[in-house]
Amino acid sequence: MNLPGSPFLARDGDRLCLDGIDLATLGQRFGTPLYVYSQAAMLDALARYRHALAGRKHLICYAMKANSNLAVLQTFAAAGCGFDIVSGGELARVLAAGGRADRIVFSGVGKTAAEMEQALLAGVRCFNVESVSELRRLSGVAASIGRVAPVSLRVNPDVDAGTHPYISTGLRDNKFGIAHEQALDAYRLAASLPGLRVIGIDCHIGSQITQTAPYLDALDKLLDLVETIGRDGITIEHVDVGGGLGITYTDEQPPRAEALVAQLLARMDARGHGHRELLLEPGRSLVGNAGVLLTEVLYLKPGATKNFCIVDAAMNDLMRPALYDAWMAIEPVQSRELQALRWDVVGPVCESGDWLGRERELAIAEGDILAVLSAGAYGMAMASNYNSRPRAAEVMITSGEAVLVREREQVTQLCAGERLLPMESAPESGD
Ligand SMILES: *Cc1c(COP(=O)(O)O)cnc(C)c1O
Repeated sequence: MNLPGSPFLARDGDRLCLDGIDLATLGQRFGTPLYVYSQAAMLDALARYRHALAGRKHLICYAMKANSNLAVLQTFAAAGCGFDIVSGGELARVLAAGGRADRIVFSGVGKTAAEMEQALLAGVRCFNVESVSELRRLSGVAASIGRVAPVSLRVNPDVDAGTHPYISTGLRDNKFGIAHEQALDAYRLAASLPGLRVIGIDCHIGSQITQTAPYLDALDKLLDLVETIGRDGITIEHVDVGGGLGITYTDEQPPRAEALVAQLLARMDARGHGHRELLLEPGRSLVGNAGVLLTEVLYLKPGATKNFCIVDAAMNDLMRPALYDAWMAIEPVQSRELQALRWDVVGPVCESGDWLGRERELAIAEGDILAVLSAGAYGMAMASNYNSRPRAAEVMITSGEAVLVREREQVTQLCAGERLLPMESAPESGD
């Protein structure tokens, strides 16, 4: 049987294993719902980018919003990666995991003054600025604490990444970035503001992109601008093409990271920009296929028109199916001699949108454990406490050992920080 995604995921007889470790055993040992990641799979995905970048000035900034567990960040920090962050909270996580501030790029359309100050004091490598107002705000904040903020402008190249509308970010009417036509004026302003130093240019055109052409189109647009603003006397040191490379959830065939990077570098060389540093901000493609979500079958509810398989993981644990209508493979961790039926795999949350997979052929019984594959990206990172459900535990497989890297949330933690009203403000009891 073919498993989509990772070469680290394989059947060993009737058992499904990640990085050689039997997933059924992990589900029993740590309980479900449980996220399991393979560190080796993450490092393998990183190596694919690295391979093509060897000998070139570059920085890979892991877009940590895809999976911000400290052990994941620690893995990439130890491998020498930088990070793409989008909040002060993410900055604190990178530093707590041993990441270097001078390898951080700070993206996002709504940075607050407090976040700017925090990042300036930490000494981040670059602010990816998304509007003219943000340029002025950042310059003011930097000047007020006697710092100079290194900046890149996120340009909206107006290319269609050919992906889901919610994760397409490089089109004219997205909220992200500065329009290509306005970029020259914005760069002139940035160069004139006292608290800023222009160092780069960036874009990020979307996520789960499965073609190379949109990247090359976006790069061309960036290089056109580098040339235009260069004639204006503003020098760009690095070109950051963002993240967004897709992974295989079912039968997608995204370009391999090596091939994509090789084409980007060739285009830079061909246009005489080979001396500039290339920055990349991959998220999903570094971690997505390195993780699975384990969930137990609570109840089987066969029906006249539909069969429901009710599991203990829900949309609060894994939001991608509900949010993007995303298809994620679901496999029993132990095969059984049972007749396969067609099931809708759904969670306990009180929403009809709470499903993990529809119309799946599965040979299963109550008490079995299922694995939702390719769940390493935008899984746990998007988890919530909806329906007052404690968040799942996380395990990382490293050197053949399964290590608990996040405890299962306790019900008592759910109300932490909440207060009852003082007695006199509470409504009168009706009895
Ligand atoms: C989300 C994001 C990324 C990473 O996207 P992936 O699809 O996970 O690779 C990179 N850069 C920015 C600015 C982002 O917002």
